[in-house]
Parts: sequence; structure tokens; C-alpha cells
Amino acid sequence: MLKTHEAGSLRKSDIGKKVVLAGWIDRRRDHGGVAFFDLRDSSGIAQIVIHDEETVHKLRPEFVVRVEGIVELRPDGNENLAIPTGEIEINVEHIEILNTADVLPFQVAWGLESKEEISDKLRVEYRYLDLRTRREADILRLRSRVNAVTREYLNSIGFTEVETPTLIRSTPEGARDFLVPARLSPGSWYALPQSPQLYKQLLMVAGLEKYYQIARCYRDEDFRADRQPEFTQLDVELSFAEESDVMELGDEVLKRIWALIGHEIKTPIDKITYEDAMNFYGSDKPDLRFENRLVDLTDYFKATPFRVFQAPYVGAIVMKGGANQPRRQFDAWQEWARERGAKGLAYVIVSENGELTGPVAKNISETERNGLKEATSAENGDAIFFGAGERESAQTLLGMTRVEIARRQGILDDNEYAFVWVTDFPLFKEVGTDDDVAVGNSKWTAVHHAFTAPKQNEMATFDQNPATALSAGYDIVCNGNEIGGGSIRIHDGEVQKRVFKVMGIADEEADEKFGFLLKAFKFGAPPHGGVAMGWDRIVALLAKTQSIRDVIAFPKLGSGFDPMTKAPAPITIQQRREAGVDYKPKPAAKSDAPKQQSESATKE
Ligand code: ASP
Repeated sequence: MLKTHEAGSLRKSDIGKKVVLAGWIDRRRDHGGVAFFDLRDSSGIAQIVIHDEETVHKLRPEFVVRVEGIVELRPDGNENLAIPTGEIEINVEHIEILNTADVLPFQVAWGLESKEEISDKLRVEYRYLDLRTRREADILRLRSRVNAVTREYLNSIGFTEVETPTLIRSTPEGARDFLVPARLSPGSWYALPQSPQLYKQLLMVAGLEKYYQIARCYRDEDFRADRQPEFTQLDVELSFAEESDVMELGDEVLKRIWALIGHEIKTPIDKITYEDAMNFYGSDKPDLRFENRLVDLTDYFKATPFRVFQAPYVGAIVMKGGANQPRRQFDAWQEWARERGAKGLAYVIVSENGELTGPVAKNISETERNGLKEATSAENGDAIFFGAGERESAQTLLGMTRVEIARRQGILDDNEYAFVWVTDFPLFKEVGTDDDVAVGNSKWTAVHHAFTAPKQNEMATFDQNPATALSAGYDIVCNGNEIGGGSIRIHDGEVQKRVFKVMGIADEEADEKFGFLLKAFKFGAPPHGGVAMGWDRIVALLAKTQSIRDVIAFPKLGSGFDPMTKAPAPITIQQRREAGVDYKPKPAAKSDAPKQQSESATKE
């Protein structure tokens, strides 16, 4: 090695030693005749003292240098106890410049805490400089340890890590596929996996019983600020498991990961049904760092004279101390609600003397006014917000209001983690109308995905009651983020076909697209289930960063663009030709016509 020691490892006990260090010039200070700089390597920084003025003049920030010198005690009053090497310094005997550096697009000092003034685009474009600061580099180190403890644990209990293909036939997880042209079969395309779902199920048919993979997945979704087109998940599958077994396994994995930051997760992690989560918290990923439940007032207002509350559902959420918000604040809440697709946010103010004011208070009946405090448990000085309309959308609005209230009250703490498994999801959700069905489009789609099993006790009936059937699916939620999800799967081809049928996928199409799975199910497929955890979000929660970009080595911008390599980029005419991108299928022969038709009718 070109060095004898790691810069960040030197301590008082090294005093008197001759050392050779190599790294980058971090912060620098000149004091007439003597120069100090921090030499940075991946282990940290050490203070270097140089007396040779001629050399000092040649040194610039981020030059790569090799320094030979003696470890000495810093003079009295010059210690910096905030860093591990803060009691010593290296008195230089010889310094060699290994490489120079241009002026940097932004400052990269090791200890830099805030990067607010640097644009996201610049940070992504120069990510290799962004990572020279401790905070950023430490997140990648944390991520590496998260991978390590997970592998160690799963290996120790008999799991096998398997790499599944990434050039595949598309696996529907509800998003659009990224497609790759197949040069050797012009006109045909591979898809990049949205998840290893079907392969992990096939590994269960293979008899592996316990599989995992830290898998890269790809979903071609629309622009969102913090979206990444490729992401990583911990993908797990096990045979002969029931819902509770998969959740217990998830508990153990999370417990070990969170222990890395010194946080103890109490297991078993609590469970809540989807229905309760919606009724109490207005969300299928409730933030349980705080309680504040929604109140169902549908019955309470069943004879109301107020038109807006003559709805299938009326609910409320109380804001403690909310009465003293100025009027313009209540107006701002209306705007806030409209930005989220609602018409507004009805409210009643319970003033300090117990009087109910605000526009809604005038519209409801006197009896309704009189009982409202008790019905909502509001106290003098609180504000009550209402949601009225279709149950799900009104509850969702109240759920968002609940979190926004907590945010404004400043009670959301990044150091607190509240986990919960959400269970008993609906199996299907409605995506079309009867008219859609009449023209051959489906009315139902799977809530989790098409391979999720119905609840055991609904096996015989789920397709007769798609609106109410429940699934053996579950999500794991932390602080209002869905950090994973999974299910017990269908392992019987006939049940699988019935699910496809509800989703408008006829046997013929199912055979064409998923024939390989249905065929595998005929050869002794064991009952199985699994889960996938969103690795990027999990590391972001551990690192207490809001941005997924911070936990990815080389992220892309929200548009999917990478300003560093400038991908995606146009290809040459030669590449297009070779890849068969412009291949035009021959016009269908007459006898093929019916098949073509059925394909296009089911494309959705
Ligand atoms: N394949 C699912 C997903 O990526 C997870 C699972 O069901 O295991 O969301």
C-alpha cells in the first residue's frame, strides 16, 4: 500500500510514530509560515502541519497527496474533541502530490452537514464528489451493513440466495415495463423485471423452500420528484408458510436491521386490518407514531339538514389547540385539501368558551351542534375537520389531514419508529364500470398482485363476491411509509385461472402469458408465500433522510435522467437496425385474424 495507516485511525497512543498517509486535501488553514490541512481518506481525517512554504503554495483543495510525518500531540488549546483524531496532528517531513484537482463545482469537505445550497442536479451529476462528504459516504456504508446482517441472518436459518434473471417475459406488478429489444428475434422484446415474483414462486415449485435475493427491480412510472426507475428490494419466499410465519420472519429481519442504528424493535410487530386502518387512520399505511383517530360520524349526521353531510360517510379528525389558528390559516387548509383532489376541508372551531363557530356550525342542526364536542371528544380550543362523501375518499382525506396536523404541530420525530403490519386487504379493487365490462374490459384488478391467494375460507366463493373478498396479503408499514408487502400465493392452477378470470384475463390469454406458471403448478407446487421489502426506503428511514437519492450510489433524477452519464441517450442508426427496434410485423394473414383480435382486446 502507498500508506502505512488510515488517517482516521490515529490516536494519542500513536504519538511519536512515523506514519505515511495518503488521501485528499480537505479543509485548509494558513497561519503565516505554517499551514494546516485535514488529510481525508475513507476512514476520516487527520490534521497535517507543514512548515515548508514552497510546498504549501502548490497545494489546492482535493489534491491527492502522500504525506510522511511524525504523529504529535496538538499544542494546548488546539485540540478538537469533536473528531476522533482531534488530539493529534502529523508534522510533515515529506509530501508528494499524487494527483491534482480542478476547481470543484461545489465544496465537498468531510464534515459538511448541509447541502441545501447545492442543487440536486449538480449533486447527482457529480455524485463521485458528493460522496466525498462523511454523511453521504456513511449512508452507503450503512446500506452495506444492512445487506450483510440480512444475509447473515437468512443464511443462518437455511435460506438460499438465488439470482433470478433480469431479461424476462414481463411480470405484471401493476406498472409499465422497461423493454429491451431482442436482436436475435427481431420484433420481440424482453422486459426488465418489476420484481422476481414468478421466478421465486417457481423456485418453490423446485423445492428450494427458502429463497431470498437482494434484487434490482425496474418500473417505468411517470415523473415524481423522488422516483427512481430502478430500485432494490429484499425479496423472500418460503414454502409451507402461513401469513403469520412470513410476518414473523419479516419482524426478525427488521429487528436486526434496526439494531444497526441502536434502535430496538419490539416484536411481534403489531397488526391491524386494512379495514381498521382505514376507519381509524384513513390510510392503509398509517403513521402510528401518534394516535389521534378519525371519528365516524355517519350515524351521528344521518338526519342532518346540511347537504354536504348527507353522504355515505361522514368522519372527523380533531386538531388539538386548532381553534387559535387565524382565519387565513383555515383558508390555507382549503387550498391544501384542493391540491389533494378534495373540494375543500369543512371545519368547526370550538372556541375557548365552548362556542362552535365557522361556516359548518351554522349549517348543522342545533342538536348536532350541542352533541358535537362529545361525539368527537373535542375540547374547548380545538378545531374539528370533516370529510364527507364516498367512504374511501373521505377517509383518505381525513387520513392526510391527520398527518398534516401532526406535522404542523411538530410531533413527528425522525428518531421514533412505529411499525405495523396491515393485513386482510381486499383481494380486488374496482377499476372499471359495467360499461367497460360490456366492451370486454375488466372491472376488477388485483390489489396486491394476481398471484395473491384469497383467504382460505373464501376459496370457494371469492369470484362470486369480488367486491368483498379478502386476500392473504399484508404490508409492513413504518412511520406512514409502506416499506414492504407480500402474500400467501395461489399454488393451484384452477384457483389462479379463476382469479385471472375476475380480472378479465380469459384462459387463452392466461395460457399465452402465464402458461409456464400454470404448467409448473401441475407438477406438485407446494403452498408458499413471501414478502418483499423496499430496501431504498428502509435505508432512508435508518439514515433519517427524506430523499431516496441519498441512499443510492448513483441515482437518477425524478425524470429518470442521469446527468452524469447522460442516460438515456439516443442510439446510432446502426444500433437501431441491429436491435430490430424498427421491425414492422408482416400484415397478419387472414387465418391469423381472430388471434390478433383477441390479443388487442386483452392488452389492458
Ligand atoms: N412481488 C411483490 C412486489 O414486488 C412482493 C411480493 O408479493 O412478495 O411488490
